[in-house]
Amino acid sequence: MNGRKEHNGGGSLHNIILVVLDGLGDRPCGELGGKTPLQAAFRPNLNSLMRNGQGGLLSPIAPGIRAGSDTSHLSLLGYDPQKFYTGRGPFEAMGLGMEVRGGDIAFRANFGTRDASGIITDRRAGRLSLGNDELARSLNMEIDGVRFMVKEGVEHRAALVMRGEGLSDKITDSDPHETGRAPHDVAPLSSEAEFTAKVLNKFLRVSRKVLDEHPVNVQRRKNGKPQGNELLLRGPGMVPKLTSFEEQHGMRAACVSAIPMISGIGGLLGMAVVKPEGATGTLESNFVSKLKEAARLSREYDFVLVNVKATDVAGHDGDALAKKNAIERIDEALGEMIRSLASETVLAVTGDHATPCSLKDHSGDPVPVVFSAPGILPDAAIFFDEFSAAAGMWRIRGLDVMNILKQMAGRSEKYGA
Ligand code: ZN
Ligand code: ZN
Repeated sequence: MNGRKEHNGGGSLHNIILVVLDGLGDRPCGELGGKTPLQAAFRPNLNSLMRNGQGGLLSPIAPGIRAGSDTSHLSLLGYDPQKFYTGRGPFEAMGLGMEVRGGDIAFRANFGTRDASGIITDRRAGRLSLGNDELARSLNMEIDGVRFMVKEGVEHRAALVMRGEGLSDKITDSDPHETGRAPHDVAPLSSEAEFTAKVLNKFLRVSRKVLDEHPVNVQRRKNGKPQGNELLLRGPGMVPKLTSFEEQHGMRAACVSAIPMISGIGGLLGMAVVKPEGATGTLESNFVSKLKEAARLSREYDFVLVNVKATDVAGHDGDALAKKNAIERIDEALGEMIRSLASETVLAVTGDHATPCSLKDHSGDPVPVVFSAPGILPDAAIFFDEFSAAAGMWRIRGLDVMNILKQMAGRSEKYGA
């Protein structure tokens, strides 16, 4: 295998696959007779992993903390979000498929409507969707050595990335956060941010002119629709400068995901980012193709992260049956993946947080986790679900996962003599 170094007194090094079923955890669902989707699902492969491996409950950040997918994945990959998470801006930008680099400043943005007197009359520009890509593209420009990149999201949503020397995220929003007021000038919150605020205000002035004259807005004006003529900025954050995964863990890594935000995190950490054919990040995604690709990559790379989004999607939809069905299809695909793995591969399956169907949002509940590795002592847990996992030996946080995996793979350094 690639890049194998001698650790563990000369024992062989195993490769690792970490499968993250997004939003996996759940609570009792009425439609499922009070079971969780995981409990209700036919899941022979997950159960077999649990029977033969070590299980437990995982708190993605810390007990009770409701994690986002971004903070949780950082944590699962061994990067403490309390040190490195700089706000939603950079991760929202990655989520729109923007390529960001450490040191860039990123904002969440809306296209809003500004009237002739300069007052914001609609913070969502009538939820415009047609032409939002053209509006975004028209704002890509360079001013005073700073590159401005805008990308549209769903409806009125967008993100702005600034790239250049000497930028700071210690600045205020331009979004007044309510209608009936003019957009704010961006103000520096510290002296190091003066240049950033100045060049950003210049950009906003130019962008108003560009957007006012843009054919999409001219047409909307004619049709009596609210124009998307003001880019409202909020939540600035500097893209964190993170040590690459290879430097941090001594492993060459690949990231298999159909979700731009997760792929973005993988890219930021220098992982090879792969989106297999048919993997869509939806309930209809091709789980077999995704997990087979992970198995293939695990022969080429020391570490493979796989994110499967469907479980989170069903949780947000509040659709317990869809979540159960997704888990059954994932379990089948997992079985195929496991059969094609090198026998010594270390495998973990867990969630990045719970997305209970009853809440349609992330909760702070712990999620089940299972570790499978050659030669490890099985524990008392025999089923993979939120309840049965409590019979397992582990009570861990997301940040512990890499340490456990590396130790099982013979890749950990001794702490002490
Ligand atoms: Zn998630
Ligand atoms: Zn979610």
